[in-house]
Amino acid sequence: MMPQWNWIALGVLAILVLFLQFRINRIRQNSRKREELFQIVTENAADMIALVDVKGHRLYNSPAYKRILGYSAAELGETSSFEQIHPDDRFKVLEAAREARSSGVGRKLDYRIRHKDGTWRVLESIARAIRNEKGEVSKLVIVNRDVTERKHAEEQLEHNSFHDALTGLPNRRLFLDRLQHIFARAQRSPERQYAVLFVDLDGFKVFNDTMSPSIGDQVIIEMGQRLAGCLREQDTVSRPQESVPLKTAVLSRMGGDEFTILLEAVNDPSDAMRAANRILSAVAEPFLVGGREVRTSASVGIALGTTVHERAEDLLQDADSAMRRAKAMGGGRCELFDEAMHARATNRLKLEAELREAMVKRQFRVYYQPIVLLETKRIVGFEALLRWQHPEQGLISPLKFIEAAEDTGLLVSTGQWVIHEACKQLRAWKIEIPAMGAVSININISAKQLAAARFVSGLEATLRQSGIDPAQLCVEITENVAAADPKLAATVLSQLKQLRVGVLLDDFGSGNSSLSGLRQYPIEALKIDRALVAALLLDRSALETVELILLLARKLKLKVIAEGIESTKQLDHLLALGCELGQGYLFSQPVEARAAGLLMPKGGPVQQTKVAGAQ
Ligand code: C2E
Ligand code: MG
Ligand code: MG
Repeated sequence: MMPQWNWIALGVLAILVLFLQFRINRIRQNSRKREELFQIVTENAADMIALVDVKGHRLYNSPAYKRILGYSAAELGETSSFEQIHPDDRFKVLEAAREARSSGVGRKLDYRIRHKDGTWRVLESIARAIRNEKGEVSKLVIVNRDVTERKHAEEQLEHNSFHDALTGLPNRRLFLDRLQHIFARAQRSPERQYAVLFVDLDGFKVFNDTMSPSIGDQVIIEMGQRLAGCLREQDTVSRPQESVPLKTAVLSRMGGDEFTILLEAVNDPSDAMRAANRILSAVAEPFLVGGREVRTSASVGIALGTTVHERAEDLLQDADSAMRRAKAMGGGRCELFDEAMHARATNRLKLEAELREAMVKRQFRVYYQPIVLLETKRIVGFEALLRWQHPEQGLISPLKFIEAAEDTGLLVSTGQWVIHEACKQLRAWKIEIPAMGAVSININISAKQLAAARFVSGLEATLRQSGIDPAQLCVEITENVAAADPKLAATVLSQLKQLRVGVLLDDFGSGNSSLSGLRQYPIEALKIDRALVAALLLDRSALETVELILLLARKLKLKVIAEGIESTKQLDHLLALGCELGQGYLFSQPVEARAAGLLMPKGGPVQQTKVAGAQ
């Protein structure tokens, strides 16, 4: 019995072995087939297929890599799969790989990769995880498709919908979008001013009608370039000395021969007008079309963002109607929507142009007003005051032009000239009039002048040239001047102190006078604002303020000059309050140098009583 059973068991075992052998062969065949299939698919696929390990090391790259990115499999083998990816896209690729490892499938994503020639290609990619026998993710298969052309086409489409085909400039849609953005921002911070300029070529229809439409197109392209050129100019809108680049200007073609410009950083309506004038001259330059020289002009309408508008489009509407007004007035000009504003801006531009001329034509003068010891009325110093001898309007006070001069940067050079002139005058006086030997000269300094790079060294050079004692010079600044840049003011003023030049705080008590200013800067004297002196006998609080200033000055050991004394009553009052020094029409108006010299007593030098300056 037993041997028979043995045979049967052996037979069954043999069958089992055979069956297993058969299964193993089938599995081997299947896996070989699968590998072959994988190879056929990957080697021939248009997409790039990569196999990477969990650390991102390349295990396999399909031949499409060479075709699409220019790298051979060997070249890729030497690098990590992240090296060629655009740095900005690396994070999202890593994220997708992480996702693929955890969930099995990564999300589809676009990223940029560098071609061997250095250009960027855009790939659309998906990753899938491969698990080992233990069920752990061991590899990732990544399929990448080159979608560069499609992306470019999409971007082009996007660009086209926001840009004008003929000029390549932003179109109405993009312009309105930007305008809305600025409009909304200005609602939140109204101090940020901006302007819309509407530019329309004059008589453009004639070009189109008398010449061919293609010539009309050429004119439009040329004008677009000229306008863009105007906006690239650094000083188009900013004042020449400031040179703020117009990075934020948006130029667009609305359609036809209409262009619009959105200007930011407009500090004054005259800024927008200055830009418009520049555009007008750029457009008026002759140009060649079809071998012929032609000329055209434009009408420009300006609407300021400061005006109350409910919608951004209203601003465009206003600029448009201002442009129509410019056109109705004969074209080749610009008009501001707000007519009163237009008049002011025009005057301002005229004033600026005249001021520039005034310097060249030597129309500035320095007048001198004596500063006296109130007790004895003895002259101890003079304040140098700028005057403009206007050819038509006569002598003009700086109050009428100082702001424009400061804004255009002209006051820096004019101010230097005043210093030079005053020092020269003091030297001449010293030689001619012995009594002048000890007087001091006070000079007003503007914020920009104080901030100018070579202010102190320039002053030092002038002092040296004229040979006058630095202690005879006193610089007058207002608190606003110091507040414009407190740190810089502190530095410059202490440099002046080192030079032994005096510093005086002008118009004290007029605005937001503060104690901190007095302590912060090396000040030696205060000038009581003339409005306080004028109100001294009329207004109790003015009297109290003057009393306080005098008290404060005594405590801080500062000299005090009361300015604008016009009557003996004011003088008596100030004397009673203990004010030592003063200045005003009661003693003398500001006068020319020769007349100032005549105010001095004849005879030998007087003892020096300094207004301010080193002791
Ligand atoms: P400020 O420095 O306060 O000069 C005093 C002003 O008061 C002068 O006006 C002077 O003419 C005027 N004044 C003098 N006495 C009397 C008086 O009794 N009654 C009245 N009502 N006024 C009197 P001005 O010359 O028109 O100058 C005005 C301002 O212009 C000056 O005020 C000063 O801030 C500025 N300024 C003048 N010259 C210069 C300069 O060379 N450079 C700079 N940066 N500013 C200057
Ligand atoms: Mg002054
Ligand atoms: Mg003053």
